[in-house]
Amino acid sequence: MKKMAVLTSGGDAPGMNACVRAAVRTALARDGEMVGVRRGYAGLLERDFTVLDRRAVANIIHHGGTILGTSRSEEFKTVEGRKKAAEVLRRENIEGLIVIGGDGSFRGGTLLAVEGGLKVVGIPGTIDNDVYGTDSTIGFDTAVNCALDAIDRVRDTALSHDRVFFVEVMGRHTGYIAMESGIAGGVEELLTPESPMTVETLCSHLEHAFNRGKRSAIVVVAEKEEPGVTFEIAEEVHRVLGLETRVCILGHIQRGGSPTARDRVLASKLGAAAVKALWEGKEGYMVGEMKGKVVHVPLKDTWEKFKGMDPELEELASLLCQ
Ligand code: ADP
Repeated sequence: MKKMAVLTSGGDAPGMNACVRAAVRTALARDGEMVGVRRGYAGLLERDFTVLDRRAVANIIHHGGTILGTSRSEEFKTVEGRKKAAEVLRRENIEGLIVIGGDGSFRGGTLLAVEGGLKVVGIPGTIDNDVYGTDSTIGFDTAVNCALDAIDRVRDTALSHDRVFFVEVMGRHTGYIAMESGIAGGVEELLTPESPMTVETLCSHLEHAFNRGKRSAIVVVAEKEEPGVTFEIAEEVHRVLGLETRVCILGHIQRGGSPTARDRVLASKLGAAAVKALWEGKEGYMVGEMKGKVVHVPLKDTWEKFKGMDPELEELASLLCQ
């Protein structure tokens, strides 16, 4: 494997740069060549390439976002689009493609491998931690710490004013950001897609807590299809219990910022592992990390199988969040 390419696709996540850097350096250490594809699959279709040498990846490990840029490509979702992408790679003599992204990107990568006979390896990069086959995705830890910082700040003001604060975090289908930031922030209530709660139940929990002597509370809510769902919940809690409520929506702030040490190490491990996998002929896999060890998971499993919430975390939350 002499010439490889790397792209970042779908939602960006802090740590993607550290991952690109590790992949490039591992390839160069084996006398290989790494081409960077700008703007994900859209850039691949347009042959938007850049040479990634040692210097191109210097001083990027601490930056959030992705130096390669990312995008969502409708054309790539079509058979013709993927045929064109495979031709572009072949014409450039690129033998292997590394895709850093989420389950959507891996669906596309799987189809490109199957239909185009190309060697594709995936690396999980998304703040949501919703990819099957890895304990954590690149960017998740940074997003959790961002949410935690907000929760800690909100607690100061919630205590000063005797209020119920709602902190809305990202997580459409999986409530991992809500779960981990909520446990770490010692919040009173957690609303996740895996453990939905009616407003009546939430009100009765809060009423019970305030009757016990609490004067403020923090509720973490994982956003649903559209951000802002929390306003309705907060209004209802105010109407039923007469408590003063405030809503704080973190939104895209969770996507940015310097990656945490944990994300940089994970990204570095997986970037290097992806290149090694291609080198050893292990195509059609995602490299992930389970129990601290690098694992190779069939790319198809990453989007066909559902990760689900860690039951131990759920149990811990029900014990501690009240
Ligand atoms: P993520 O990888 O973060 O889940 P998306 O779901 O938006 O992000 O997917 C990123 C890109 O991957 C899409 O814009 C598209 O080009 C490609 N992709 C997603 N789903 C498919 C699919 N079912 N078939 C082919 N390509 C897909």
